[in-house]
Amino acid sequence: MMGHRSVERTHYFLVVLVVLSASMSLALGLSVADCRLPDCKGVTSEMPKGFSRKEIPQIVLVTFDDGFTEKNIKYYRELSASGLKNPNGCPVSFTFFISGENNYTFSKEMYDNGHEMASHTISHAFPIASWSNKTYAEYRDEINGIKKNLVEKSGIPESEIKGFRSPFLQMGGDIQFQVLKDLGYDWDSSIVMGTDSDQDREQYWPFTLDTPLKNELEQEKSNGVPGKACMNEKCPTKSYPGLWEIPVNRWYDKQKKPCSLYDGCDQPTNKEEFVKFMKEALYKNYDTNRAPAGLFLHVNWVLSKPYRFEVLKQYLEEISQMEDVWILSISKALEWIKNPKKMKTNLDVDAWNC
Ligand SMILES: [Zn+2]
Repeated sequence: MMGHRSVERTHYFLVVLVVLSASMSLALGLSVADCRLPDCKGVTSEMPKGFSRKEIPQIVLVTFDDGFTEKNIKYYRELSASGLKNPNGCPVSFTFFISGENNYTFSKEMYDNGHEMASHTISHAFPIASWSNKTYAEYRDEINGIKKNLVEKSGIPESEIKGFRSPFLQMGGDIQFQVLKDLGYDWDSSIVMGTDSDQDREQYWPFTLDTPLKNELEQEKSNGVPGKACMNEKCPTKSYPGLWEIPVNRWYDKQKKPCSLYDGCDQPTNKEEFVKFMKEALYKNYDTNRAPAGLFLHVNWVLSKPYRFEVLKQYLEEISQMEDVWILSISKALEWIKNPKKMKTNLDVDAWNC
């Protein structure tokens, strides 16, 4: 039998081992094995947890950039009141990226209707290139300013404003991500993924910025593929543990030209063809790795050509009939991505219930 003293010694060795391995992993940087859900996820297009395609709900992320106005609100009221439902019978939800010129009564109304409000800077100012060179204080005031307005003028709880997208997708590199981390944001959605001629590749799943994106790019290059893990002009190079990125996976239009936000694509002008084009794009994910499909638009996209609203409505109506398609705000979608559950007929995710 082990004496008292040797039990203590065993404990001592265990403590030394734990301390040693902890300091080694700190010194070496976290290894891939240490990156685990729900707090860490690598940059990949592979399906989570080794699930098969049919075990994964197809998430569709519909987002609208910029502020609400008297002119555009009627479309969002109509969309919100159109009775679109997810497979559990709960209403669908969208994400709105709010910037300075915004009607805060409307953002309150849409928040109360179950949609998510996120930050898109207070000024959204030109020139576009200036967003690559702002100081820490400028970024902090821009990102926090809009949150403050949404709290004070729309009465939205501070804890409900969790995400950010760069104006014009023109990122500020490490300064932007350090500010997001310091201000306690959960996620960013500004990083553009996919090369100019990458349309056949599977889209990326959301990931955390634990591993510096620079390493991902180098890894891709060493595997002989051109880096595609951040196509923006200025990318983060450091690690931001636990900060999620909902990548802007590129779309490719009929001319196979890439577009980042969907409304930058060359789009069909015939309504039926347009809906078909959008559904084909969704099926590219639905039939492969089921990465969340981003339909990233501007709030004013529907204004310049009224048939676009009809297209959007018909597309959402059609896909919301599918038993495994979920139209969700980004923060709601992240709840499944952090804790993936196999899809059954009664898929039960707390944040998705109503
Ligand atoms: Zn914008």
